[in-house]
Amino acid sequence: MINQEEIINKFKMLLAEQTKMSNLIENKNIFYAKHIQPLYENIKSLSNEEKREFGKQVNQLKTTLEGLFHQKKNELEEEANKKENIVDYNLNVDTFNLSKGTPNLISIVTNDIISYFKKLNFEIIEDSEIVTVDENMNWLNINETHPVRDPKDTFYINKNLLLRTHCTAITAKAIHNQNKEIKVLSYGYVYRNDDDDMTHSHQFNQIDIVWIKKGLTINHLKSIIDELLKYIFNKEIKTRYRLSFFPFTEPSFEVDISCCNCHGKGCEVCKHSGWIEILGAGMLHKNVFDAAKITSFKTGIAAGLGIERIAMLKYGLKNVRDLYNNDFRLIEQIKKGGK
Ligand SMILES: [Zn+2]
Repeated sequence: MINQEEIINKFKMLLAEQTKMSNLIENKNIFYAKHIQPLYENIKSLSNEEKREFGKQVNQLKTTLEGLFHQKKNELEEEANKKENIVDYNLNVDTFNLSKGTPNLISIVTNDIISYFKKLNFEIIEDSEIVTVDENMNWLNINETHPVRDPKDTFYINKNLLLRTHCTAITAKAIHNQNKEIKVLSYGYVYRNDDDDMTHSHQFNQIDIVWIKKGLTINHLKSIIDELLKYIFNKEIKTRYRLSFFPFTEPSFEVDISCCNCHGKGCEVCKHSGWIEILGAGMLHKNVFDAAKITSFKTGIAAGLGIERIAMLKYGLKNVRDLYNNDFRLIEQIKKGGK
């Protein structure tokens, strides 16, 4: 007869040791091969009557073992499910303060000036930094001997393409063949082959404006610029217009403001003149109208502003590189005391 109890106890001991599903199934098969399979072998040698009784006992035993096996299998499955649902968070991560971002001073000044001209209904243009010789020079009355045409001073890509040396190139493109009243502002980086120092950079930011309309005069130019400077510096600003020369305007002016540092008395900042040069402006040159094929009227005002220069004056910076370093402390400090 079969000692069922002994086999069942051995199987229970085996099951108790199992922790993994794969091992459980493998060990069950080994156990069956060792303890159950031989019982079937024995049946062959028994009489028919004995076979019936023995078969019944083997089946009973197998049913019991299968029951125990499935119980263990369920237990292991439940444990595995529980583990899957537990997410292993590390709640001891070091924390640090993230401060909010802030625009760079170049962006602050640029956006400020753009908002002034938007109020005057100027169209704002941001165009390619690569321009043609026509756009950068030929259409702007810049003659063949002007230094800006020299590859030593300008970054050429090929004979006809270059990195724009001024945003006026974008303006020239915008007004070309536009035989109508037009108000445009272009802005962005311009490039000159200069050595970088305290006040110069080979790459800097400009804003260029042009307003073409019948009957515009120098008085219009002056009032727009005076108001603009008041807006930028957020206070009354004394200005001075000095006759100057730019190829694309006639007459041309350098515009100075009364020194913010000494209020006109004379100091190191203004080289003891009491005045600081801030921008260039003028009445658009007749040759520029001709090159643009504008025939209906030939009066227009133009101005070009260097953003770095304005930012340095407005915020009292001595080194142009302070504007590019993105030193958060400087920006935060200026924002607190700024406009
Ligand atoms: Zn001064």
